[in-house]
Amino acid sequence: MKIKFLGGAEEVGRLGIIIDMEGKKYQIDYGVIPEKPPLFPMPPEEIDGLFITHSHLDHIGAMPMYFQDEGVDVFATEMTANTTRPMLNDSIKVTSLEGYVERFNREDVESMYTMMNMLRYGEKISLDDTVITPYSAGHIPGSTMWKFENSDEIMITGDLYTRDSKLLSGAKPRKTRNLIIESTYAGKNHEEREEVRKRLRDRISEVVEHGGKVVLPSFAMGRMQELIMSLYDLPYKIATDGMGNLITSIYLNTPGYLRSEKEFRKAVARVKEVRGRKMREHMEDVDIIISTSGMLDGGPALGYIEKYVHDPKSAIFMTGYQVEGTNGRNLMEKGTLNISGAEVKPDMQVEFFDMSAHAGHDDLVQFIRDCQPENVILCHGDQREAIVDDLANYNVILPFNGKEFKIE
Ligand SMILES: [Zn+2]
Ligand SMILES: [Zn+2]
Repeated sequence: MKIKFLGGAEEVGRLGIIIDMEGKKYQIDYGVIPEKPPLFPMPPEEIDGLFITHSHLDHIGAMPMYFQDEGVDVFATEMTANTTRPMLNDSIKVTSLEGYVERFNREDVESMYTMMNMLRYGEKISLDDTVITPYSAGHIPGSTMWKFENSDEIMITGDLYTRDSKLLSGAKPRKTRNLIIESTYAGKNHEEREEVRKRLRDRISEVVEHGGKVVLPSFAMGRMQELIMSLYDLPYKIATDGMGNLITSIYLNTPGYLRSEKEFRKAVARVKEVRGRKMREHMEDVDIIISTSGMLDGGPALGYIEKYVHDPKSAIFMTGYQVEGTNGRNLMEKGTLNISGAEVKPDMQVEFFDMSAHAGHDDLVQFIRDCQPENVILCHGDQREAIVDDLANYNVILPFNGKEFKIE
């Protein structure tokens, strides 16, 4: 078996992995690093199938480039397939708004859907002599670990979360001889999720009881819905705004992926979806606003912050990873935001709550142990060395982009 990374080996983002099994080449993911402008992986190659782990842009953001000529068969869970289109079309919109080079267009996205094969977790398919199975990766709804089996076997986790959250059940380990695993949080552990949730709820109550508003900038996919599930039973008015509302409706209409569809439905019914400018301007009775974008680059979130920017009773609570160079990162590090071209220092309270959907260090080690692999290939991390000492029982490989290697 030969493996080559087109991106995402020694970095977080732009993942693209080609597995060469008995002469057939299967690619997993083809994403970008969502910087300004986005960083693309190495160019497309001749492949026999394309597999999506999940619909975050660092895994799908370059994929339509494969569909400009002949295209290739593409495989995803139904949830991933349903959420991929709006994410890609939104990235096309942002590319054009920001004036970056267009690498693909909406037609390429549509071509991709003519070659889309949708699978359920545990449903096996055979390509040539290889049996391929998707399993839940616990990261966001629809996220997938792909296992490939012929005379040898390999599993690719994609982004991985092994604990249960309010929205999803954690990923379960699978026995495999070769394991390609993400390592975003190598060397770091998270605070217990339930503790974080409790602290967030307490702080929100405090702010609202003192007459303030809480803005929760949120990623459209997964995070907004987990926040809804985590907060809906508070005795306050909650509104959601931005592309996350579209993703919420896809989650409601794609059964079979959430921990409890019934509870999700109940939670969504309790929050108010903001539709259109008029409604957005009349939110006086709302206490908590969950809105995209999660890194405060565009989206309605910034508009809400602008409204309360000089109110020290109000708060901005961040819950997601902030990429370097984004407004959100600047807010966290320097306490400033760029609002319509002006540098502003909000008087609002700014705090961070770690609700990462990536397994922390100890959970990664435990997951690897439970998969009982011989070879462990670490990717999707820029601190991979931090976990190597804890993997002494395995043959650990740290690949680099563009450098093909063989597994014996
Ligand atoms: Zn992800
Ligand atoms: Zn990722």
